[in-house]
Amino acid sequence: MLIDLHAHTAPRSNCSRTTLEELVETARSNGLDALCITEHDVRWPGTELEDASRLLGFPLIPGVELTTDVGHVLVFGPLRKPLWLGYKLEELVEECERSDTALVLPHPVRRLAGERAIKGGRVPPLPAEVAALPQWEAVHAIEVASTQTTTLEHTLTAAALAVVHRPAVASSDAHGPGLAGAYATEVDGPIHTAEDLAAQIRAGHVRPARHPV
Ligand SMILES: [Zn+2]
Ligand SMILES: [Zn+2]
Repeated sequence: MLIDLHAHTAPRSNCSRTTLEELVETARSNGLDALCITEHDVRWPGTELEDASRLLGFPLIPGVELTTDVGHVLVFGPLRKPLWLGYKLEELVEECERSDTALVLPHPVRRLAGERAIKGGRVPPLPAEVAALPQWEAVHAIEVASTQTTTLEHTLTAAALAVVHRPAVASSDAHGPGLAGAYATEVDGPIHTAEDLAAQIRAGHVRPARHPV
């Protein structure tokens, strides 16, 4: 199945300039089979996303983009702690070792080689240094590209994956209109729920299907 694992809606993610309806319309016209909604540190309450999925006639899978001590981590599946309390990577990994929850590292080199880091005069790290970061092996998959990352970030991430191979995904990280499905991941299916998706991510049954590198 072709799935975009990472997208934000307004107003639940206050950085987003697009709505669920627009994302779904774009996802559909870009040929996606499903779209994951991953707001920052908040989940859609109750059955709201499920209800919207039924209403819009399009598969929507819930996830969350959690802020941790090493930056953002995409989470598919349940977590015990209230999200607003935050997680340390170590704590998150330990909990997920005992559950079926899957972790994906989005924009993995943003802090080291993203637009702001480079403008601030930072020298990009070597691929081996990136692959040695604790989060590289702690998560179940690495996001190789999105619409929110630069060519330098894509190249560096691909080079780090050549040093220490990990399952990889590509996703839009859509924050605006017209972006859902711009980048996407091929996931072994069928996928109906976050649990189905988490199981495939944990098993490494994911590949970047639409991406620039
Ligand atoms: Zn992020
Ligand atoms: Zn995001």
